[in-house]
Amino acid sequence: MPTLGAIADDFTGATDLATMLVARGHRTVVAVGPDALSEQGGEAVRDADAVVVALKSRTAPVEDAVGTSLAALRALRRVGCRRFYFKYCSTFDSTPRGNIGPVTDALLAELGERRSVVVPSFPATGRTVREGSLFVHGELLERSPMRHHPLTPMRDSRLSSLLEPQTRHPVRLVGLDTVRLGAQALRAALDAPELADALVVVDAVTDEDLVTVCEASMHLPLVTGAAGLALGLTGPCAEAARAEPASRPGDPAVVLSGSASSATRAQVAHGRAHLPHLKLDPRSLRDDFAGTVDALVAFARRAWESTPGKPPLIYAVAELSDIEEPSSADGPAAPELVERALSACAADLVEAGARRLLVAGGETSGAVVTALGVRTLSIGAPISPGVTWARARGRGRTVDLALKSGNFGGTAIFTEAWSALA
Ligand code: ADP
Repeated sequence: MPTLGAIADDFTGATDLATMLVARGHRTVVAVGPDALSEQGGEAVRDADAVVVALKSRTAPVEDAVGTSLAALRALRRVGCRRFYFKYCSTFDSTPRGNIGPVTDALLAELGERRSVVVPSFPATGRTVREGSLFVHGELLERSPMRHHPLTPMRDSRLSSLLEPQTRHPVRLVGLDTVRLGAQALRAALDAPELADALVVVDAVTDEDLVTVCEASMHLPLVTGAAGLALGLTGPCAEAARAEPASRPGDPAVVLSGSASSATRAQVAHGRAHLPHLKLDPRSLRDDFAGTVDALVAFARRAWESTPGKPPLIYAVAELSDIEEPSSADGPAAPELVERALSACAADLVEAGARRLLVAGGETSGAVVTALGVRTLSIGAPISPGVTWARARGRGRTVDLALKSGNFGGTAIFTEAWSALA
């Protein structure tokens, strides 16, 4: 029976955290939404030590994000979980309204608790927190490419400034000097009466810092952070078994990229040099959605015939100038159109035989997984920090899926990820 329950605010985050938990020795199942967990009466997770519920709540309206997060918490409690982890992005992706603050507040209230830690640091992917400010590869978050994100542009780096407008709790900081005193001293600092109802941002710059934070916060029923915080969560096995691939080498494969992040733009440039490729245009989707999707699907199917072994790449953004401003068009906004189009392509291509899909973008991954009707994901072979293959089950089919957060992965990931599945 699982004891650790996690709620991830997007799908790439869920597989990212699950990968970390598997590596730390937890048999882990990712359930797609609270219903996937409830409908099987806990059967799918009976042999698991940890369950991660994947939500698409990062940019949902606040009430929806709070509602699905609470439903996830209740479903996790019903299958036996006693400790909880709210996983969000290591770049603290959120807007002034939420959803990190409101969801944390609601989870605490439901658990009858008053405080938690806030730990977005993830040094393996270049995210660190020092004096309460978030850095991305040594650069302040507000100066990083995250300032251009189409949905959650991050234009402040101080976690207190980002979180205060979102939460009813006071936001406090425990700095690196206290973390470096070790887990016992840090725990004493976290237990200080003046932090009794606070969300406490804890500095962490190295993996060792994260292990200390994790140890020091083990007594809290709820922790919040990126996947890095799980570094200190040792499970019952040395390393939990990974799922075997569902597909065989040579099975039809496709790359679907809806991310505009700088790492993905470099990956798209590399993919364009090495793979058959076709770009999605929001304007043509607005003019003729079905016709445009059909053309994309036909392109991919032709590529399977004409260039076997080279997965076709369907992408939305190559340059920053491709991003459509929200006010620039009548009709559906570009982010929604692109997500709908890529998820329609995914569903049609799986119908046509695709068994290996690499998806770039957190929101995009959420849309694709939902369109495919995936209910559970079992973590398979790792690709790079934060990116893994997963065996995805749903609608009586099993496919291999890699869900890549926009800023994760090396430049050649679209051509190289497949070898991990061989
Ligand atoms: P990341 O992981 O990089 O944040 P996401 O998939 O979460 O990627 O977010 C990227 C968002 O940008 C998606 O909602 C996607 O539909 C949207 N998008 C893609 N292409 C465009 C475009 N040309 N103009 C505006 N938004 C776009």
